[in-house]
Amino acid sequence: MSGSCIFCRIVAGDAPARVVAETEDAVAFLDANPLSPGHTLVIPRDHHETLGDLPADEGQAVFSLLHRLVPVVERAVDADATTVAFNNGRAAGQEVHHVHGHVVPRFEDDGLGPIHGLFDSRPRIDRTEMDEIGERIASGFE
Ligand SMILES: [Zn+2]
Ligand SMILES: [Zn+2]
Repeated sequence: MSGSCIFCRIVAGDAPARVVAETEDAVAFLDANPLSPGHTLVIPRDHHETLGDLPADEGQAVFSLLHRLVPVVERAVDADATTVAFNNGRAAGQEVHHVHGHVVPRFEDDGLGPIHGLFDSRPRIDRTEMDEIGERIASGFE
């Protein structure tokens, strides 16, 4: 636990939050500044900064709670869909450095489009570079 971390304080019950689900290793609560009604965050109980820092069992616990919660959130706010995303690391805009998945309810008429809308344009990456990138990822995966 990190004393200055707002999410650790929520887990400990030392900061207010609308907790909506808890399991042994993960907790879900409403985002205090929702992007849409029902915007929920899912976090590991333990303080870890990014997905890459999470031990495998805690990663499984977070995904398991996400998996169970997504349809429940959709039903609760009569959403048509959800955007499920992690801002993973500072350069991606992660502001609370305790890994958290966002469940953002989406509606047919919200006009927002896919998460691809974050990117104004796409880079030109030739076949050779794509092959090299693929190989680097595949060889780093154990
Ligand atoms: Zn924390
Ligand atoms: Zn841990």
